[in-house]
Formats: sequence, C-alpha cells, structure tokens
Amino acid sequence: MIKSNCHTHTTYCDGKNSAEEMTLAAIEKGFVSLGFSGHSPMYYEADWTMTQDNIKDYISDVRGIKEKYAHKIDVLCGIELDSDFSGVDLSDFDYTIASVHQLHGEDKIYSVDLSPEELTECVNTVFGGSWNKMAETYFNNLADFVLSGDFDVVGHFDLITKFNGKTPLFDENDADYMTSAIKALDRILDNKPDILFEVNTGAMYRKGNTKPYPAEFMLKHINKRGGLITITSDSHCCDSLDFAFDEMTDYCKSCGFTEAYYLTSDGRKKYSL
Ligand SMILES: [Zn+2]
Ligand SMILES: [Zn+2]
Repeated sequence: MIKSNCHTHTTYCDGKNSAEEMTLAAIEKGFVSLGFSGHSPMYYEADWTMTQDNIKDYISDVRGIKEKYAHKIDVLCGIELDSDFSGVDLSDFDYTIASVHQLHGEDKIYSVDLSPEELTECVNTVFGGSWNKMAETYFNNLADFVLSGDFDVVGHFDLITKFNGKTPLFDENDADYMTSAIKALDRILDNKPDILFEVNTGAMYRKGNTKPYPAEFMLKHINKRGGLITITSDSHCCDSLDFAFDEMTDYCKSCGFTEAYYLTSDGRKKYSL
C-alpha cells in the first residue's frame, strides 16, 4: 500500500510529538506524504485545540519542515476544522478535514469523545435519554457542516461510537440509528460525491476498538454510492502514524473498495488497494 496519512496532530494542539518528530518517524516508516491537521481554534476556549496565538507558528513550522525534508517526504499543512471553529483563514492550508466533536445543550457544550460519562450526560440532559435522537442530531450536524464549505475530507463520521468497543453505550444495529447515519451519508454524497471519507483507525490505537470509523455498514454504503476513501489514523504520536494500516487494506476491500486516495502537494492521488 501507499503509506500516507492526512490526519495527524502535534504538540500545537493535543498531540504528544512535535511536527518534526512526526515527520522523521513518517520518513522512517516509508511514508510518501504526511499531512498535519491541527485542531482549529474554536469560538470558545478549549484545551485540545490550537489557539489564535500558536496557529501562525504551526503554519510556519510545518512550512519550514516541508522545505527541509522535501527530498524525502511530501509534507502538507492542513487543518481539522471543527463545526465551532473560529478565526481561521482557510487559504493558509493545503487541505481541510471537516469534523464535529461536540453537541450543544442549553447551557453546556458536551464533548462526544471525551468520556462515556460526558456523552451519557449529554444524552440524558439534551436528548431525554434517547441515544437515537443524539445520534440523529450528531449525524445531521456533521452533514450540515460538511455541506457548509469547500472541505476535502469528512472526519471520523461516527465518532459517537468511540466508547462502544468494550461495553457498548448504545446499539449500532438499531434500525433508527442506521437510518439516520445513512440519511446523513446520502446528503453528503448527493451534494459532494468527490469528498473523501476517512477510514480512521484512531479509536483502535487509543481505545483498543477492533474497527475503524466509520462502521462497516456505513463504509459499504459509501462504496455502493461510489464514494471515495482515504486511510488515516488520527495520529497523536509517532508510534501511531500508520496504526493498523495493513489491516485496513483488507478491511476496505471487504467493504467493496478497490481503490483509496492519499493527499499530495499536487492534489489527491489514487492507488489500488
Ligand atoms: Zn477529530
Ligand atoms: Zn483528529
């Protein structure tokens, strides 16, 4: 397979390694390209994102690394935009990932991926205990955000399943749950058939989950609709840059895909799985 990853984080947000350390590790692993996707600042304070202050340093640091290692690897400066992002000039970036990480209650914003307790509190407080209503809102919000701008990649489509690995919080085979996911996928695919969906192994290395985002039935649907994929690991450290990538080749094939895409400075490129 082509080794590349466009979803990675550094110490500029909530990653553990510097951009240069990540680049050297990617070269060591035989990557052809590496995209950095620091978390966008939000319109409120958050401790896991870049800030209005350090985002400029992030851009210049990554641009410098791109030049320094150009003979070894193609480095891209991207950003993972959250639906609550603020103060970002999109023209500063080579590409964008559109993601949603939270749901809004009347007087609290809940992270969907911070802890099972916070997600459960959100379901009970905002959605009257209905996990399906929470999921429907999440998928709708994500589709709304993806369709609101010119983005390159759809981030971790079913992030709300992050804690379902060991003791599931809700039933992913529930018919209503599946319907709301498919509806949101269809809205995206109807309007942006060329956008890349990431097959994201982040919760496999961080939570020990056995499957990537999005779930198998969603990936199969994306494939049936002629949608496109890119394999990523949402890496927050050098060790996880290519986590479970070998497995993902067979997994994506089992979902019907024969090709995947990776990002380069000359645009996206296709390769056979
Ligand atoms: Zn994310
Ligand atoms: Zn991420």
